Amino acid sequence: MTTGKHRILVVGGGTAGISVAARLLRRGHSDVAVIEPSATHYYQPLWTLVGGGRAKAATSARPEASVMPKGATWIRNAAATVDPDNNTVTCVDGATYEYDALVVCPGIQLDWNRTEGLQEALGKDGVSSNYRFDLAPRTWDFIRNVRSGTAVFAMPSGPIKCAGAPQKIAYLAADHWRSQGVLKDIDVHLVVPTPRLFGIPAIADSLESVAADYGITVHAGAEVTSIDAAAHKVAVTPVGTAGSTTMLPYDVLHTAPRQSAPDWIKDSPLSTGDANGYVEIDKHTLQHVRYPNVFSLGDAGSTPNSKTGAAIRKQAPVVVANVEAHLAGQPLTASYNGYGSCPIVTSGHSMLLAEFDYDLNITPSMPVLNPVTPHRSYWYLKKYGLPFMYWNLMLKGLA
Ligand SMILES: Cc1cc2nc3c(=O)[nH]c(=O)nc-3n(C[C@H](O)[C@H](O)[C@H](O)COP(=O)(O)OP(=O)(O)OC[C@H]3O[C@@H](n4cnc5c(N)ncnc54)[C@H](O)[C@@H]3O)c2cc1C
Repeated sequence: MTTGKHRILVVGGGTAGISVAARLLRRGHSDVAVIEPSATHYYQPLWTLVGGGRAKAATSARPEASVMPKGATWIRNAAATVDPDNNTVTCVDGATYEYDALVVCPGIQLDWNRTEGLQEALGKDGVSSNYRFDLAPRTWDFIRNVRSGTAVFAMPSGPIKCAGAPQKIAYLAADHWRSQGVLKDIDVHLVVPTPRLFGIPAIADSLESVAADYGITVHAGAEVTSIDAAAHKVAVTPVGTAGSTTMLPYDVLHTAPRQSAPDWIKDSPLSTGDANGYVEIDKHTLQHVRYPNVFSLGDAGSTPNSKTGAAIRKQAPVVVANVEAHLAGQPLTASYNGYGSCPIVTSGHSMLLAEFDYDLNITPSMPVLNPVTPHRSYWYLKKYGLPFMYWNLMLKGLA
């Protein structure tokens, strides 16, 4: 027994779901439903600035009702299972919805418990993460209250949303400590699982100069594998090699959690079936590789781009065009090239805007500014321009 049927069903009313629903409605589709349990919609990129003391958490949140496009049916529920052979999604309360086309975008799951000791340590005694709305202000509390000691900023292994966020907060913190005259008394460490600070050599060179200028010790090819909150120590272990573990003390610890697809996606026929379990889609058409009436985008999709809102801005029009083509029985012609962008704040007044495609070609939107170095004007883009664009254009299907 189905509870209802919709021509196009969208799972998740975050960045991707609202962008796609708004575009579909603008193009005249009248039966678009969005399954979304949360009463609040977040602009997560602002959480870096909140943690760095440069924005208030409240400005990153708005009522979900205020961003839900007019004309969309909001199903205030959480999807629990999907049966793509019978074109249905069932929610946690048992309500079942049938669809002609399905767009799956419930975001990424934060696996706090995959780093030993992290869950218990969060929010107390100097340990925080900008990956949660409620914790980003705690990051700032810890940063502004430390005057000496050791600070550790860590990025986990595996795909995460906004891979730049774990290092951005290190630069904002170091810049603050420098302005307070205490940077010389704080031993700052940045732990990243990758061989360098960025996958594009020219940008890695630039970021390594930024880190060196602050006196930050970079531990490349390593990750924090456990936290001993009682002893105020973290274990830093090489990734993928047999090297030995180093213990670092900390007074402030910022880390991103390990991440993977939501468990219900991992357990569904839509999943890639590997440990990350994302929705298995073609990297150009964003159509599911086994179920032609299923599409995905955003953090839950298997495409190998950087998981960012910026990527979604380019993916959403592709999904909309290809859903339309599929429903009309036409070939899919829209194609996503892997565009992603990572606005890396390097201080409280500068930012490097890394923009690239699947092949790591640098694809600057503003070629007049050197794309591998930080600029002051980009800081204003991050603090004012991008939030304005997000709320007023992207979520309305206009950008
Ligand atoms: C600290 C931080 C900094 C970032 N910085 C940047 C940046 O500078 N630039 C940038 O472009 N991106 C940045 N990002 C990444 C960006 O926010 C995400 O990539 C983007 O929000 C992903 O959109 P999404 O729609 O896939 O997921 P989300 O926006 O997370 O939305 C997922 C939605 O699905 C809903 N949902 C969850 N489970 C279910 C379910 N079972 N059923 C139905 N709905 C469900 C959720 O409630 C949520 O509303 C940052 C993220 C963080 C955390």
